[in-house]
Parts: sequence; structure tokens; C-alpha cells
Amino acid sequence: MAAQQKLDFDPAALHRKYLLERDKRLRTEANDQYLEVKGDFSRYVDDPYVEPGFTRPPLNDEMDVVIIGGGFGGLLAGARLRQAGVQGIRIIDKAGDFGGTWYWNRYPGAQCDVESYIYLPLLEETGFIPREKYTRAPEILEHSRRIGRTFDLYRDACLQTQISSMHWDEAEHRWIIRTNRNDRMKARYVIMSNGPLNRPKLPGIPGIADYQGHTFHTSRWDYAYTGGSSLGGLEKLRDKRVGIIGTGATAVQCVPYLGEFAKQLYVFQRTPSSVDIRNNRETDPDWAKSLTLGWQKRRMDNFNVLVSGGYQDEDLVADGWTDIIRNVMLGMSKDQFEGASAQGIATAMELADYAKMNGVRGRVDSVVKDAKTAEALKPWYRQFCKRPCFNDEYLDTFNRPNVQLVDTDGRGVDRITPKGVVVDGVEYEVDCLIFATGFEVGTGYTRRSGFDVAGRDGVRLSDKWDNGAVSLHGTMSHGFPNCFFMGLTQNTLTINFPHMLDDQSHHIAYIIGAAEQRQARAIEPSLEAEKAWCDTVKKSQNYAGNFLQECTPGYYNGEGRTELGHGLTGNTYGGTPMACEGIMREWRETGELPGMHLV
Ligand code: NDP
Repeated sequence: MAAQQKLDFDPAALHRKYLLERDKRLRTEANDQYLEVKGDFSRYVDDPYVEPGFTRPPLNDEMDVVIIGGGFGGLLAGARLRQAGVQGIRIIDKAGDFGGTWYWNRYPGAQCDVESYIYLPLLEETGFIPREKYTRAPEILEHSRRIGRTFDLYRDACLQTQISSMHWDEAEHRWIIRTNRNDRMKARYVIMSNGPLNRPKLPGIPGIADYQGHTFHTSRWDYAYTGGSSLGGLEKLRDKRVGIIGTGATAVQCVPYLGEFAKQLYVFQRTPSSVDIRNNRETDPDWAKSLTLGWQKRRMDNFNVLVSGGYQDEDLVADGWTDIIRNVMLGMSKDQFEGASAQGIATAMELADYAKMNGVRGRVDSVVKDAKTAEALKPWYRQFCKRPCFNDEYLDTFNRPNVQLVDTDGRGVDRITPKGVVVDGVEYEVDCLIFATGFEVGTGYTRRSGFDVAGRDGVRLSDKWDNGAVSLHGTMSHGFPNCFFMGLTQNTLTINFPHMLDDQSHHIAYIIGAAEQRQARAIEPSLEAEKAWCDTVKKSQNYAGNFLQECTPGYYNGEGRTELGHGLTGNTYGGTPMACEGIMREWRETGELPGMHLV
């Protein structure tokens, strides 16, 4: 166990350094530093992957279930409902196909960063094994389509369609859904699976609107301009000076490709990512053949327990995500681990974290030749303060003569001009400026969805959730009968997001099945049940809150808002994902839908 070994570092000094780096980056405007992608900026969210001019006649029909969002959440919900025998399922998505985040994010190098054998849903059900341990975007997009085909979800799907409004008709006990294609659909049930990171954001850097060169956001990669595909070959950049703003998980994956092809690449950095070894490898066919029924769920569960700080005899995935806990457990029996106090485990985790991050920083020194660049690329925070990255080419890219890191020491870019980007009074002229600046988190739920929802008596979800989601289990909200939510609305958070989505889709399929069995026209949680869940969520949050308060700003902690309740996990259940799933399972096992009101 790391805590019992002699330390070769000073934890107090590292702690001080981490706080210093956090303080340097705190900004009073927090989330307001970003621009909403609308008006003049709406071109940043145009769909580059469809032919323009698609039309179809408006629909005026009725479905059993309408699912909003054709990403993994919507596909899983659709699959579980199909397995339960539901016929009329319609997935609606603004994109031209299923895939959600993998539809939009096709930037060069895009690849899943959680092992593909546990990340890609429904592998056993679809009979598919990914080609690599960390598979690439085209295979993931194709797998989304495979799920769509296997569960016959294309049949009634409406793609390239945006919801414009949705309201509950109390007399008919139906949801009425209107879209930008003049549809007026009815649905008995609606599932909102809009995705937590679906809306690109831009930094509010002075002058951003003045830039005259070519520009796009990484989630709408312009291959017509760069050439190539997400597998590489960006030949059209050979004579281009390219700037990229942002050094998060997306940039870490695409910078090696930009570095390989651009004439000159400037990487504008505010905070460096933690970049650990990837060590990708092709799937061993003998291993694939040896898998037995139920293997995927067992592997997913094993990973989920480990990355949530729990004990497992074996680490099946054994990668950078599970390193810390593996180090903590090293040499401990299950009894020793489970007998240790929560404080003891937390201290051991903190020490293992310092050791881990020392390793990550050491790796920068061993790869990056220029000492000043190497120093600037070192992350000074705990590993899970930001999305940890795993990449074997990113750091080495800074050894290329055509690649320059422009570090802003935590301040961010000063200004954008018609010709380029200004940092420390130096203007870097670029032909193309790429924003790898992430997605809206912590803004209003309905703003991110792109439409409001009117429940019973016309109560708007935007009003009810003005101060954050209010729900039972994050799944349903009082006043919004037959409407389900997936994602981070007061549910759990896990590193392997599709795991959580699958738990939620089972839960929703169960509730719909139970309501149907009882021949209910409407089902919704009582106010009391909702309040009890809100209290549970609040009580569960302390540890995650303290941890995040000491982190450098980012979307995990509401851009450094030091009070609790903001950011990605601001309103999620703070216990482990297994605990959250356990609560929902026990609730189902009562067979009585406790706290639900049915008519
Ligand atoms: P992030 O929000 O993680 O990163 C945004 C980047 O933009 C940060 O480096 C941020 O710096 C920087 N930035 C913002 N404003 C400025 C500014 N004014 N000047 C300079 N830099 C600025 O977005 P990503 O798209 O990288 O990743 C989003 C998430 O998507 C990931 O966290 C991950 O969950 C997911 N993802 C998953 C992948 C997978 O393989 N499964 C791959 C890629 C992404 P700062 O840190 O200082 O705020």
C-alpha cells in the first residue's frame, strides 16, 4: 500500500503547489466566461456530416415511447424497451444518424478513452467485439448503427429533426411533441436522453468574432478544409498555419494529427492535461473466443467497483483508470481493505494520487526535449480533478519543429484578432483557428436541450429546475408524468458513462412495464418522494464537493466555484455508482413503485 511505503515526495508541498495552481486560475465569472453558441456563432454547430436540403413530410402520429437523443443513452433505452416488448418506439435526434457524441465528435484521433470492451454497450446482444482495446471513432459510430439495426430502432426514427416544444396534455394523457419539421406527434411516454455534454461552447475571448480566417469547433470537424478523416491524412493542412485553443481530452487526441500535417501548429494552453500511457492493442482473438455468457457485465462491474474506490480480487481492465486504487490495494487482503477506516482509505488514495501524478509529470520530462515546454506541460492537480487523458503521441508532438506550445500560465488567451491569437503581447497569425474548448456543463437543462418542456398545468421544466434538477432517482419529476430523464440529473456519475446509462435504461423500462401492467394512464413521483431523494442527494455530496473544491477549475467543479452544488457532479448522487444502482434496484424489488402516483 502506497501509504505504508517510504515516500519519496513531500505531500504537504505538493498540496500547497496544487492550491497555488488552482488559485491562479480562479475567475469570478466562472461559467459566464463562455459564449453561448447562437446568433453569429451558430455556424459553429451546423452539421457538417449531412447533405444540405433534407426534407420530409410532417408527421402527425402517435407512438408508445418517444426517445429524445440517439446516442448511447437513447439506444440503450430503445434496446431495453424492445426487449420488454414495446413496439412503437421513436428516437428523435437533430443529427443525421444515431451515435450522439460519436456522431458529432469525428475529429482526427477520436477514440474511446475507456476500454472498448466495457464502453461499447450491448456487445453480447449484438455479437460484436471491437478491434482494439481502445477503439476508434468510426468503429464506435458503426456500433451505434449496429445497435439501431439489431433492435429495429431505425424503423420509426426521426433524424435531422429538432424538438421545438413538448407539452403534457392532461385530458389525453399524452405528450404532444412539435419539431422544426412541423411534426405534431403524440407519445404516451417520453425519455429525455439529450446527453450531458451535447452543446459546444466557445470561450468569451475578446475579439473572437473578429477572426477572419477559417474556424470551427472540434465537435464539427471540417474535413472539407483539412482533408483526411478521423484516422488521419489531413493533407490539406500541409501549407497551413493552424492554432488550437484548449488542451483537454479532445485536444490531446487531435493535436498529434495536426502536428503531423500542419505547416505550423500553435497549441494555446491554459491548463495542461494529465497525459498517461495509452498502450492500446489489438483484440486478441483467442481471448475473444474464450469469453463466456455474461462476460461484459462482469467486466463492467469489476471496473466500476475499482474506479469507485472499492475492492476487487482482480483488475480485469487493468489500465490507467484503475491504477490508483490498484496501488492502494497493493498487498492488502479484502478484509484489510474493507476494515480500513474511510479516512485511512482517503489518505492512502491521496498519497497514491501524488505518486501517480509524479509519474505523469515525470513522463513529460522523459518525452519532451525542451525543458521549458516540458515544465509547462506538467499538470499540478489530483488525477480526477479533470478528465485524465491517455495518449502515446501527444507529448512527443511538442518535439516537432513545426509545433509550438503557447502556454498562458493559467490566464488563457488574451485576445483574438482578425489574423490570429494574442498571448503576452505576441500575435500568432494563423490560417485556421480550432476551438477545442469543450461543451456546456452547468447551464440550464432546457437551454442545453434546446427546448422547454411544459408539464401538467403548463409548469415549465426550466422554472421547476431553475436551481437544478428535482426528481426521484434522477429519473422522473413531479408534475411531468410519463417523462423520464437519463444522464446526470440527480443520478450517479461513473467514469464508464454507458454503464450508468444502462442501469438507467433498465430502470426506466421497468417503470414503463410496471405502469403498463397496472393499466395506468400516467405515472409520476409524489412531491414527498422527490423531496426525500433530493435530501439523499444533498447528504451524499460532501466528499465529492471537498475534493473538487481543491481542484483547478474546469467543468467538473463549475469552473472553480468553490461553493458546493455546481459543475458536472453538482447535483448528482455523491455515493458510489453501485450504491446508487443498489438503491434503484431495491426500489424495483419492492414491486410496489414506492413514492409513485398512478392514475
Ligand atoms: P474540455 O472542457 O475538457 O477542455 C476545454 C479546454 O479549453 C481546456 O483545456 C480549457 O482550459 C480550454 N480553454 C477554455 N477557455 C480557454 C481560454 N480562454 N484560453 C485558453 N484555453 C481555454 O473539453 P474537451 O472537448 O477536451 O473534453 C470534454 C469532455 O469530453 C472530456 O472531459 C471527456 O469527458 C469527453 N471526451 C471523451 C473522450 C473519450 O475518448 N471518451 C475524448 C475526448 C473528450 P482549462 O482546463 O484551463 O479550463
